[in-house]
Amino acid sequence: VLEVKHLVKFFGEREILKDIDFQVFQGDVISIIGASGSGKSTLLRCINMLEIPTSGDIVYQGEIIDDTSKDIALYRTKVGMVFQQFNLFNNMTVLENCMVGPVKVLKRDKETAKQNAMKYLNKVGMAQYINAKPHQLSGGQRQRVAIARALAIEPKVLLFDEPTSALDPQMVGEVLSVMRSLAQEGLTMIIVTHEMAFARDVSTRVVFMDQGIIAEDASPEELFNHPKNERTKEFLSRFT
Ligand code: ATP
Ligand code: MG
Repeated sequence: VLEVKHLVKFFGEREILKDIDFQVFQGDVISIIGASGSGKSTLLRCINMLEIPTSGDIVYQGEIIDDTSKDIALYRTKVGMVFQQFNLFNNMTVLENCMVGPVKVLKRDKETAKQNAMKYLNKVGMAQYINAKPHQLSGGQRQRVAIARALAIEPKVLLFDEPTSALDPQMVGEVLSVMRSLAQEGLTMIIVTHEMAFARDVSTRVVFMDQGIIAEDASPEELFNHPKNERTKEFLSRFT
């Protein structure tokens, strides 16, 4: 469904992504792991066109996503993103946060958008908070609303950049369990995470990034139990 081809990204003189190639198939749940600064967020941001690749292509359903095209907004309805810091609209209620995209971008009527938003707020266990503002919620609740907001656009692929890193430890579980159920329902997801147990249990594939390259791309069983790359071994040894 999604393909990254020869992706290169420079920031100034520094080559942050060095010829990245990988493919995402329908139903894949891909965890991206790697040290701080290895380029994980930059890769996700390029996939979502929040950063424009220096060279190389992002190909969605066979079509190259062109950075100059006005179709980026449309593309982002197909490939959504959930951020570490939630990025909710603070002046809107929970329900409004989950309706604004469908109404503004998908041109849904308000009643349809509302019903749809309720469906996803139910799914993440936040339906009883529809009239709350984000500041009245805990971090875990905010992130669950952010996931419902992303789902309300009905993306084909959902990207997550360290969705639990900004949360207090007791709230990590509630967000991971929502993500786990999305994975079980077959949503295609790419997740940058430091939650190794989650990556091992939930992913169909794990990608290890090291200094701007994909050093290893394998099944969780293979990558965690029989890593081939020395850098993967070294990285994983920090978690045991
Ligand atoms: P972390 O685990 O800390 O989130 P990461 O793997 O997500 O790390 P990136 O955020 O992709 O790493 O950053 C990779 C490198 O690119 C870093 O050295 C960072 O300083 C640099 N970088 C990222 N964004 C920019 C930017 N907008 N301008 C300049 N340099 C940047
Ligand atoms: Mg990052």
